[in-house]
Amino acid sequence: FQQYGIHRWGAGMFARMENGDLGLVNPARPDDTPASLPELLHNLHARGVHTPVLVRVGAFLRRQLESLNHAFAAAIVSSGYQGTYRGVFPIKVNQQAEVIDRIVEYGRPFQFGLEAGSKPELILALSRDLPKGALLICNGIKDAEFIRLGILARKAGINCVLVIESPAEADTVIAEAKRLGEKPALGVRIKLTRRVTGNWADSSGDRSTFGLTTKEVVDLIDKLRDADMLDCLVLQHAHLGSQVPQIMDIRQAVDEACRFYTELRRLGVPLEYLDLGGGLGIDYTGEARASDNSVNYTLEEYCTNVVETVKYQMEEAEVPHPTLVTESGRAIVAYSSMLLSDILEASYFDRAAPLTPEDDDHHMLSDMAAISGYLTPRRVQECLNDADYYREELRAMFRRGVIGIEEVARAEQIFLYIVGRIKDLVAQHPADVPQEVVEALSAHRDIYRANFSLFQSLPDVWAIDQLVPIAPLQRLNEQPGRRAVLSDITCDSDGKIDQFVLGDGIGNALPIHELSPDERYFIGIFLVGAYQETLGDLHNLFGDTNIVTVDFNEDGVLELQHEVEGDTVSEVMAYVEYEPRQCLDAFKRIVERGVRDGTLNPSQRRMLMETYRHAMNGYTYYELEEHTHG
Ligand code: PLP
Repeated sequence: FQQYGIHRWGAGMFARMENGDLGLVNPARPDDTPASLPELLHNLHARGVHTPVLVRVGAFLRRQLESLNHAFAAAIVSSGYQGTYRGVFPIKVNQQAEVIDRIVEYGRPFQFGLEAGSKPELILALSRDLPKGALLICNGIKDAEFIRLGILARKAGINCVLVIESPAEADTVIAEAKRLGEKPALGVRIKLTRRVTGNWADSSGDRSTFGLTTKEVVDLIDKLRDADMLDCLVLQHAHLGSQVPQIMDIRQAVDEACRFYTELRRLGVPLEYLDLGGGLGIDYTGEARASDNSVNYTLEEYCTNVVETVKYQMEEAEVPHPTLVTESGRAIVAYSSMLLSDILEASYFDRAAPLTPEDDDHHMLSDMAAISGYLTPRRVQECLNDADYYREELRAMFRRGVIGIEEVARAEQIFLYIVGRIKDLVAQHPADVPQEVVEALSAHRDIYRANFSLFQSLPDVWAIDQLVPIAPLQRLNEQPGRRAVLSDITCDSDGKIDQFVLGDGIGNALPIHELSPDERYFIGIFLVGAYQETLGDLHNLFGDTNIVTVDFNEDGVLELQHEVEGDTVSEVMAYVEYEPRQCLDAFKRIVERGVRDGTLNPSQRRMLMETYRHAMNGYTYYELEEHTHG
């Protein structure tokens, strides 16, 4: 449990059970026995819901949303802030209806709203019946129709605020407002000059692509005043970036946003809302330090820093305290989803038995075998270099046709034996070993193949080297004897994970148990609720996974509340312009030709067509045979 750092990144939501299973902790009743994840998977399997499966936990979503609102409320009370907090959830971070509906429901007591960054997102947000007083913030590039929707929706009691992103957009907004004879609620997106650190630094600073420059902001005020619409400008928006690692960056960016706010107020803009966008990060590694995958602050510290900075700045400028808005997405949803799957097979990088070369083998085999004779702690580097050299030479000879396949196979065994001996020596004398040797040896890891697609389910791990915690779901009271990289089932060499969150930092191998032939071995990939679901792609035509939402009922029992079946093969075929019916007919004709030519008998034809049809209607992922026909 500790080896995987679960106690550090799990935020108290996961626990090791007595039998070694990983369990979900009910945030409302933390002393209850946790709900076992392997048991959940067995129950899902019995219902016909197979791995890989994305599990969303309602209680974890509620917990994060409540924590954010409570933390702002506490900071407001403790600092004597005169305004309130009205958060919104940015739909882009997880657009799935089941997630959005829960956010609206759990957020109702806090008048929590939504942020739409596009017309489709606005259209779905408008249908969600937000609580009275909640904001619907409209960011992104807006055409006249988008703007019309935003203006007229206010007449239906929806608190839509159109955030102006560019001078041209301001012209369209003014024109539409005049045409409709209505006054919209407007915001202005400013560009802060300060850049934050981290993976998303480019979305901050004055070279970021969105928002108005200082000159454009001043021009906008004149334009709105001329159009008799300055009273519409009630919100100032500045997006600080995403997953901001340093609390100092947040403080400084908020500071600058406040300077804009107080200056705009001085120019007569009746601003009421200060929207600070996203940026509240989560600690994927549990290291609690400023890095791309970790943050050096807590959610509570973030809220306190924001509230105190704004209060101080407003008081300096004698401006009434604004209603604070944030658009925190990641911090609300990341914890609530996890991808659970099976390990399908393992390639063990095992120690080989010693082997004496045959008499007529190339002399380099004996040379390699002789390395054991001079292997000492001081000479490990030399021995490893020699073994690598002989192996490479022998492989080259094989390619040129000088030696045969049996000889290369014997060379491979000798090589593995030598590496095994070197590993033993290194384990016994770790202090004497050069770092280069440690790194070279770490390349000799097992490969565990898991049933999922990195490209579909973890696009940020592939694209931007995002780290996400991974742990086995069982045997957590048993020392894991193997060290592995995790490979997915796409046939793409990028489809692997070789950086892992561990209890003592980041490592290039996952501690994992040896597989047992009569037991399924499950693995969990955690904190994947933000951004991953819609960014994923269809590489190798692996489609959406099965998704279930589970939650603890009033008796504290984990129950299945919602289920979405993953894509079938025919569905993904349709995404890439194949008509499944046509494919079936075309294949039937090809098969019939086989019958005509006598290569296939009629009953084989039946079996082939049944299998084709069955596979076409089935899951795109690896199906264990008992699942398919069970
Ligand atoms: N608001 C805007 C305008 C964004 O572009 C984003 C994402 O980058 C967010 C909010 C969400 O940010 P986060 O996930 O860091 O909370």
